[in-house]
Order: sequence, then C-alpha cells, then structure tokens
Amino acid sequence: MKNKPIVEERVIFEHGACDEVLRHSGAQDIDDRYLRHDIEGMTDPGEPEVVRHFTRLSYMNHSLDAGMYPLGSCTMKYNPKVMESAAGNEGFSALHPMAPQSMVQGVLELMYGVGEYLKAMTGMDSFSLQPAAGAHGELAGMLIAAKYHRTIGTGRNTILIPDTAHGTNPASAAMAGFKVTNIPSGSHGMIESGTLRRFIDGDTAGIMLTIPNTLGIFEEQIVDIAGLIHDAGGIVYVDGANFNALLGKARYGDMGADIVHVNLHKTFATPHGSGGPGAGAIGVSSVLREFLPVPVVERRDRRFVMNCGLRHTVGRLVSFYGNTGILIRAYAYMRMLGTSGAGQVAETATLNANYIRALLKDRYNLPYGTPTLHEVVFNDALQNVNGVKTIDIAKRLIDYGFHPPTIYFPLIVHGAIMIEPTETESKEEIDRFVSAMRSIADEVRDDPQLVIDAPHTTPVRRVDEVKAAREPRLVYRR
Ligand SMILES: *Cc1c(COP(=O)(O)O)cnc(C)c1O
Repeated sequence: MKNKPIVEERVIFEHGACDEVLRHSGAQDIDDRYLRHDIEGMTDPGEPEVVRHFTRLSYMNHSLDAGMYPLGSCTMKYNPKVMESAAGNEGFSALHPMAPQSMVQGVLELMYGVGEYLKAMTGMDSFSLQPAAGAHGELAGMLIAAKYHRTIGTGRNTILIPDTAHGTNPASAAMAGFKVTNIPSGSHGMIESGTLRRFIDGDTAGIMLTIPNTLGIFEEQIVDIAGLIHDAGGIVYVDGANFNALLGKARYGDMGADIVHVNLHKTFATPHGSGGPGAGAIGVSSVLREFLPVPVVERRDRRFVMNCGLRHTVGRLVSFYGNTGILIRAYAYMRMLGTSGAGQVAETATLNANYIRALLKDRYNLPYGTPTLHEVVFNDALQNVNGVKTIDIAKRLIDYGFHPPTIYFPLIVHGAIMIEPTETESKEEIDRFVSAMRSIADEVRDDPQLVIDAPHTTPVRRVDEVKAAREPRLVYRR
C-alpha cells in the first residue's frame, strides 16, 4: 500500500510566464475566516514601551554578537554586518515583489549568480532557490524523487535513511508519501555498502544521506553507495545542510548525488531566525532539471527571466521568489569568498572542531575514533557519574557565558554533546570555551550539585522544555 502524500501537489504551471503565478501570492488568497482582525486583551503600548520591552528581552538572550554559540549541526556562525548592509540597500529592500521582471533585473541577476556559484561549488546541474529552510529543501527533494518515480512509472516507494541522518530527513520523506527504512551505521560511524546492500530491493526509490553526517563524519563509501543505489534504479539525495565542512574541497555532484540541498544560512553567513527565514537551495542533476520547484531564474542573452514552465515541476513552495533577503546576504558572502577563498571555510571549520576535540578528549569521552570534519560529538560516559547528566553540563555552560552545544543528538550517541565552533571563532574564544568545558568537568568531579543546579546567573533558571514545546503560551495576558 502506498502512503498518501501529506503534501498534495499544487498547481503545475504549463506556461513559461510567471506573472499570473506571482500575482496569487499574498494574503488576499487567505479565506477571511482564517484572518484575525484583533487580538483579545492585546495592549496598545507607545514606541518607548515597545523599544524597551524588546531591548530588555534581547538582554535576556544569548546571541552571536555576545559570544560563541557552538550548537552542533546548526552552524551558528557569526554573520558579518556588511551582509546586513548589502541586504538593507534600498535598491533591494524597497523592491515590490510584484514589480515587472524588466524592472528587477538586478535582483534576478543576483539570484542567477547565487545559482551559478552553487552549481560550480556543488557540481550539480541546476538550482532552484525557492525552499525557505533546509527541511523545506529536503521536502522539495523528496517531492522531486516521488514525482520522478511516478513519471517514469516505477511504483517505487521506499527511501533508505541512515541512523546518522539529520532528524528532519525521515520526516521529509514521509511527508512526500514515502515509506522510510532505517539503515544502521557501522562501528566507524558511517554507512557500509555491505550493510546497505541488504536493504536494497525492488521498492527502493532512493537514499537520503547527510554528508557530512550528524557525527561530523564524512561518508567514505559514498561513491560505492551511490553506485549501488543507481544500479538498483534509485535516486541519491544528499543533505548538504552542512556544506561549510566541504566548501571548495569536495562536490556532491562528483560523489554521485542526483539531488542535494544546501543551507545558505549555515554555509554562507546568513541568519537562521529560528526556523526561518532561511534558504535551502536545491540542486539537481540534468535528468531531474524539469522537476525543480518554480520559478527558476534563467539567463536569455543579456536578460534574466523567471521561468515557471518546467515540464515536470513539483510546483511552487513559497510566495513570490523565496527569501530574497537571505539570498542577497548569501551572495555577498559568496562574492567575498570567491571560488578560491571558499576552501578556507571548510579548512578553518574543520581545524576549529578538531582543536576542540584534541583539547577535550581526555575529559569527555569520544564514542568514535574516526576523524571528524566541522563538528565533534562526545558522549556522557565520563560524566554520567555523581548524578550529573549531559543537560546539566549544557546548562552550566551558560554560567560561563556560552550558549550550550546541541545535546542528546544524534540519538545513536548516549548523552551526546555535539559541538560545532564554526570557522568564524578565533583561537582565543575557542580557548575560553575549552577552559570552561574543562572546569565544568572538574566541577562534576568535585562539586556535582553546583552543576546540577545550573544555571545560576540567568533571569530564568530551568524551564520545562518539553511542556514549553508542547503547550506554548503565545497569547499576551495582563
Ligand atoms: C540544520 C539541518 C537541517 C535542517 O535545516 P533547517 O534550515 O533548520 O530546516 C537539515 N539537515 C541537516 C544536516 C542540518 O544540519
């Protein structure tokens, strides 16, 4: 039995022109019964109250402007302010999304440039810049894979996903209507082609591989893996969210990827903004070009045009052109790096993570000896004594002025502490972080209660994180 896709395919655009498509993009399309006209109990503050309220809130938060944010997998790197001023340029910020294409040639050229740069760096054939986040790019990729198999009539419906994949991967595959089969990684923290072979059958539609995977490890057998999947008639999807680890060093297209998404907000210094606005640009090999989400930007002689007329397109994913402001910031970063400077991103990100690994591995346990790239994952084998848990260590770091790393992920590492310094941190800042981690390890040994009760310095101490996520209270009540 086939799963029914949760996401129905939207209108497919037959014509090359985008004007009609773009016209139907705004709130006027939302049925009136879903629009709220006032909020019960909402106050009506003046400007000083609003400014002070948000400024006060901002003091209570940690940000990259305040210090290191070593959140593994999330790549919270410092975004240079010059990217903000590029995006704030009135020529961009004052553009109306319905302006005719002849009047927005500059921004179309910029988007074309982003696509060309991504093509050169990833080795993919074509890009769509529509997806508004990494997970959105994955969904786009899975919709493409599903439509590809429908179009050529294979009836295949299973996607293979390793246990070292990012957590959003199985969700994206399921939303596109696929069944998901979990592939166990080997003792070196990577997928082994011998194991994979056992899971491939006549229903295999493809594989979703996170490269580097969530252990920070490069899948060394990727070329064999891609060969196996292709021989079986499947699609190789690569989650390239953490492309900053490979930028300028290796290309997904050369590894055999058919579809890849890249998080511009992790690789090219643009803000994340809690789940958006981001940009999860999606690239495909030439066979899948006609399936890309529309519109795509193309060059016709000296003009740049939006094309909505791809033959098998999975349709549109966002209103208008996608998160253009993010694309502008990414483009500024790409131009700053050039193609020759790109390799420095991967080198420094990898060096920084391995520096931390080397300086902490006597005090925190490494579950895998395999060399890692841009992040390092420890488990809780040494600290899970004296009643101290990984979460306590994470909370204690706040007292030292750092945002906690990612914890309890990936799931295959017990009590995981996943640290990603990124390439934008200086040696001095990383040394401060390492010394904080080492003194916490001392505290766990000498004064565990100090760690268990942390944080001690914040306006809010421990919150019920599960309840906060499951029952968020979003309405203001006086
Ligand atoms: C961050 C990340 C994602 C999801 O990206 P979002 O922009 O947060 O949706 C997917 N895969 C990997 C490997 C990631 O690190």
